[in-house]
Amino acid sequence: MSNTPPKHIAIIGSGPSGCFVAQSLQRAWKDSEITVFDRFAVPYGLIRYGVAADHQHTKAITRQFDRMFADGSVRFAGNVEIGTDISLAQLRERFDLVILASGRWRDRHLSVPGSSLKGVIPSGDIINALNAVPRPSIPLPEIGERVVVVGAGNVAIDMVRFLVKTAADYAGSDVAPGALEQYLAAPASAITVLSRSPIATAKADVAMVKELGKIAGVRYTFANSSPATEDNALGRKREDAFAALAEIEVDEPRAHVHFVFGAEPSKVTGAGKVEQVHLGAAPVGEASVIPADTVISAIGFDANAPGHLNYAEEFDFTPAEESGKVDEGLYRVGWLKRGPVGAIPANRADSNVVAKEILAAAESGELTASLDRGGFESLPESLRAQSVSFAAWQKIDAAETAAAETDRIRTKLLDHEAMLDIAHS
Ligand SMILES: Cc1cc2nc3c(=O)[nH]c(=O)nc-3n(C[C@H](O)[C@H](O)[C@H](O)COP(=O)(O)OP(=O)(O)OC[C@H]3O[C@@H](n4cnc5c(N)ncnc54)[C@H](O)[C@@H]3O)c2cc1C
Repeated sequence: MSNTPPKHIAIIGSGPSGCFVAQSLQRAWKDSEITVFDRFAVPYGLIRYGVAADHQHTKAITRQFDRMFADGSVRFAGNVEIGTDISLAQLRERFDLVILASGRWRDRHLSVPGSSLKGVIPSGDIINALNAVPRPSIPLPEIGERVVVVGAGNVAIDMVRFLVKTAADYAGSDVAPGALEQYLAAPASAITVLSRSPIATAKADVAMVKELGKIAGVRYTFANSSPATEDNALGRKREDAFAALAEIEVDEPRAHVHFVFGAEPSKVTGAGKVEQVHLGAAPVGEASVIPADTVISAIGFDANAPGHLNYAEEFDFTPAEESGKVDEGLYRVGWLKRGPVGAIPANRADSNVVAKEILAAAESGELTASLDRGGFESLPESLRAQSVSFAAWQKIDAAETAAAETDRIRTKLLDHEAMLDIAHS
């Protein structure tokens, strides 16, 4: 057995985890050929399709991945779904090393009585519509004037920001214009946010709370169940951030956002659609029944959701912090490995750790190059032809940026087939 490092490497998923691990391995093994596959025609996973449209600074990380793909050191192969277009087993026959970076994202659904009423919406449906996710493309649900948001983590705050922003607040973003217009034709004016925990242990980042204060025309109030202890510095900072929000004076507010900390819905009622949200135990002074047109749940993700794991049913994908090794020559990184928690920096750290584990396995002779495996060039001609290269994605990119409305940086294509037409033109 030689100690030559893997020559042909396949990474499944072009989200941040897949791209970070590609970067690390490319730096270490200049002579290896790395292909990053994605089921979408476009790269970058949730950076493009999850991170809020008005957070372009977060999306800027893609520029370093652009350089990696553009200089040819790593190949992008979009529009290839592992499990549908080619099996994982077939891929493993052709690549010395396969890394699964296919993420894991499905909302945890609200499970109180009445959760299946019309008007109870998982935040993912709204995020998908605002981010123009194709395959499948989901229209923005109707929202109405009175909204109850369940949850107080960063995704819940993303929801509040979306509910209270005006068209002008989306300058420089790539929000889906149709979805935004539909919402702004009849925006919400009374928003109640329910957080199970008090502010001290709520999940929202302080920066996200402070950002709400920069949106003009919104009045904020809050009820907190129990204050942070002396030694909970972060909890106290979060309390200060909410107190500062409540101090903002607004003459004629467009919208009122009321946060209730230490309260959970016990049931949702209405005749055929949402009309009221009932609280299990309302904090002192708070209403126990809240009239609502819509309930948006932002209560985290279902770690065991199968998602696109159809390609790898025989393996155990229970979330794990430790080793990324799944099998000989098969590893996993990012949300697929750790579960759907944590932001992009956490995935960078995880990808670096798994890259080190892989380098060590190659060093020890456990992972080597094999003459039998031909990598991307050995895939069926039809599969290579259907794949979208980085240069082909740049055509889609150019079409989207050219179609941008005034004050926007792009209008994302909503239709997967339309993307392929442009890519293969
Ligand atoms: C709504 C929302 C908002 C967020 N906002 C922020 C934020 O502001 N800042 C921040 O740092 N983090 C944010 N995050 C977290 C961040 O998006 C994740 O930490 C990160 O994207 C996880 O990276 P990943 O590469 O593991 O998975 P993903 O980003 O999900 O990438 C997985 C990729 O694999 C592809 N794939 C899946 N199955 C297959 C298959 N069978 N074949 C081929 N390809 C496949 C998918 O198309 C996708 O491109 C947010 C997440 C969500 C859901």
